[in-house]
Amino acid sequence: MNTTKVKAYSATSATSPLAATTIARREPTPSDVRIEILYCGVCHSDLHFARNEWNFTQYPAVPGHEIIGRVTAVGSGVKKFKVGELVGVGCLVDSCRTCPDCRDGFEQFCTSMVMTYGSVDKHLGGGTLGGYSQGIVVTEDFVLRIPANLNPAAAAPLLCAGITTYSPLRHWKIGAGQKVGIVGLGGLGHMGVKFARAFGAHVVLFTTSPGKTADALRLGAHEVVVSKDEKQMAAQAGSFDFILDAVSAQHDINAYLNLLKRDGNLTLVGAPNEPLPVAAFPLIFRRRSFSGSLIGGLPETQEMLDFCGQHNITSDIELIRMDQINEAYERMLKSDVKYRFVIDMASLK
Ligand SMILES: [Zn+2]
Ligand SMILES: [Zn+2]
Repeated sequence: MNTTKVKAYSATSATSPLAATTIARREPTPSDVRIEILYCGVCHSDLHFARNEWNFTQYPAVPGHEIIGRVTAVGSGVKKFKVGELVGVGCLVDSCRTCPDCRDGFEQFCTSMVMTYGSVDKHLGGGTLGGYSQGIVVTEDFVLRIPANLNPAAAAPLLCAGITTYSPLRHWKIGAGQKVGIVGLGGLGHMGVKFARAFGAHVVLFTTSPGKTADALRLGAHEVVVSKDEKQMAAQAGSFDFILDAVSAQHDINAYLNLLKRDGNLTLVGAPNEPLPVAAFPLIFRRRSFSGSLIGGLPETQEMLDFCGQHNITSDIELIRMDQINEAYERMLKSDVKYRFVIDMASLK
């Protein structure tokens, strides 16, 4: 298969820093879109993947699944996109298209989904290579339209952090008259606050850092609860319709289950490495439920982007150069970012 070379940043082992390299992209097939990447968000998953912390990384590894770019070529059969359009690519670049999940538009649950990085590349062999690169070629069905009024750099994190928080809020039908908790004010949590507020809910942000209060209120929270303060937590008991938990570290989940009303739900979108102990009584006594959620399918991701266009919602970002990525990872580990790093891919030229 014919390929084109593009510049990229890759890790060559679990312990090596990311460094400049050149990778191959396929020539567009009739259904493919070639995209010049303008911006790529930096997700915590990128770091886990680069360092093989989930034990499936093939090297060289090119992370990046919050991609914003411009269409530079389309295959002969492409109907949805034209050269010059602003587009996005999220966590998925393909799926089986035929299973019940794919038919229902839930490609994120397809057991044959092809992730933007870390899956097997059906066209070129080896692993799929992500957005820390100048260009990517993706089948048109997995390319998303980006509303023209959004700042393209700040729109990049919508492709993972945005849909990860939008999807469960929609699934649990969050709206006016409901009280919603968001646990953790990071890349995911700050988007959860924005969406819950835009959906009309009363939004309470839970944080371990009292220093985040002013920012949480600015981002749209109506109240901020310092979760280490037992009095503040007790005052919220039994009052929530829904809680979105975006914390990826070990924490006391039962303290939050106790804050739900009868039939309330707590959905986990953070991914702690160790199992969380869940007590039975908080669930049984108020018929509460505890569940999870994973990004979103292609139809819902486009719906989320269109919603962001209508409501002018983007991520709060810190724009970095490609060669600052290793430093950005160290800062991300310390939660020292407000609230998402985005790489300006012009810096890779
Ligand atoms: Zn991600
Ligand atoms: Zn499928």
